[in-house]
Amino acid sequence: MKGEWFSEERGKSLNSVGADNSPVPVVDTFGRPLKSLRLSVTDRCNLRCRYCMPETDYVWLPREDVLSFEEIATLTSYFVDLGVDKVRLTGGEPLLRRDLPRLIRLLSQNRGITEIALTTNGVLLAEQAQELYDAGLHRVTVSLDTLKPDRFRRLTGRDEFARVIDGIESVGAAGFPDLKLDTVAIRGFNDDELVALIEFARHYRAEVRFIEYMDVGGANEWSMDKVLSRDMMLERLSRHYGPIAAIPGRGTAPAQRYRLPDGTSFGIIPSTTAPFCAQCDRSRVTADGMWYLCLYAIGGMDLRKPLRLGASPEHMRQVMRDGWMGRRDRGAEVRKELEAVGLREGRLIGIERLREDPHLEMHARGG
Ligand code: SAM
Ligand code: SF4
Ligand code: SF4
Repeated sequence: MKGEWFSEERGKSLNSVGADNSPVPVVDTFGRPLKSLRLSVTDRCNLRCRYCMPETDYVWLPREDVLSFEEIATLTSYFVDLGVDKVRLTGGEPLLRRDLPRLIRLLSQNRGITEIALTTNGVLLAEQAQELYDAGLHRVTVSLDTLKPDRFRRLTGRDEFARVIDGIESVGAAGFPDLKLDTVAIRGFNDDELVALIEFARHYRAEVRFIEYMDVGGANEWSMDKVLSRDMMLERLSRHYGPIAAIPGRGTAPAQRYRLPDGTSFGIIPSTTAPFCAQCDRSRVTADGMWYLCLYAIGGMDLRKPLRLGASPEHMRQVMRDGWMGRRDRGAEVRKELEAVGLREGRLIGIERLREDPHLEMHARGG
C-alpha cells in the first residue's frame, strides 16, 4: 500500500551535481530525499537498557570488520555528494569508541555537512564533552529515561545514574548551545515522571523529547500495552500544566514540538502510534559498514566490501544512488497497519533470528 503521501517525485533519476556544483538530492520511490545519516560507530554498550539490549552478552560485530575513521569519513563524503547534510553519531554507545573526536575532526572538514550531532547515554560524557566540542561537534542528545537512581539501575542494569547527570551538566560548560534529552516513555515504568523530566530539562535549559516505545531489535519486553502514546502523554501533561499548543513547522524532524502555557517547549516522537515515515529522510550505517534504509529493515547493503576492494567513488555513489532510489521502506507505518488488523501482537523478529544476525539489533544500527 502506497499511503496517501505517495509523491509524484518518486524514483526521480537525478544527477548528483547541479549547475552550481552543489549536490542534487536523490529521492526514493516515495519522493523522500536522502538527507540525514546515522553513523553507528560501535555496537558495544556500557549499559543494558531493557528496551534495547536486555541480554548480558551478544554476538558482536567482528573487530576487523569495524570501519576505521578514515573509511567512515570516505563513505560519508559519498553520502554528502548524494544530498546528506546532517550526520548523527550513535551506537551502541558512541563514546566507547576510542578517540571519537578524531572522527569528528575528519567529518568537520567536509563542507557539505551542516550538522554533526551525537546521541549518547551520557555515562562517559563529562570526561569527553570539552574535547568533543573542540573537535567540532555541534549538538548533543543524552538519553535519560528516569530521574530515580534505583529505577535507572533496574532499567539499565548499571549503577551509573550520577555519571549521566554529570555528563548532562558538562554539556553547557563545554560550550554547546543547546541540549536535547531523549526519554523512552514506557507505560507502567516511567510514565509518572513526565512532568519531573520536563522540569529537569528546564533547569538545564535543555529540551526533553518523549519517544514512544518501539518494537525494534532487542525490545524483548515490548507489547502494545506498554506504549505510552502521544495522546496519553499530552493528556497527562495538559492535566498538570493546562493547555498545550503544537509548535508548527515540524518539517522532516521526527519530533512534534509543543509549548506549555509558560513557554517551555518539549517534543514527542510518536514513532509507534503516528509514524513519520512519509517524511523520513534518514538512513543508517552500522559500525561494520552495512547500510540500512529503515530502522526496521531486515536487509541492508554491504558498503564495506566494495570500499575495501577499492571501488571508485563513482561506483560507490552509483550503488548508493540506486539503493536510495529503490527505497520503499516505511517500517513503522507497516507495523501500525498490522496492528489495525490485529496482527501486531508482539515483536516481529524472534530472539533466535536476532542472535543469527547482530545487525538486526537497535544497538547495532543506532536508534
Ligand atoms: N547508546 C546511545 C543512547 O542510548 O543514547 C545511542 C544509541 S541508542 C540505540 C539511541 C536511542 O535509541 C536512545 O535514545 C534509546 O533510548 C533509543 N531506543 C533504544 N531502544 C528503543 C526502543 N525499543 N524504543 C524506543 N527507543 C529506543
Ligand atoms: Fe541503552 Fe543506548 Fe546502550 Fe541501547 S545502546 S542499551 S539505548 S545506552
Ligand atoms: Fe524512517 Fe523506517 Fe523509521 Fe519509518 S520506520 S520513520 S521509514 S526509519
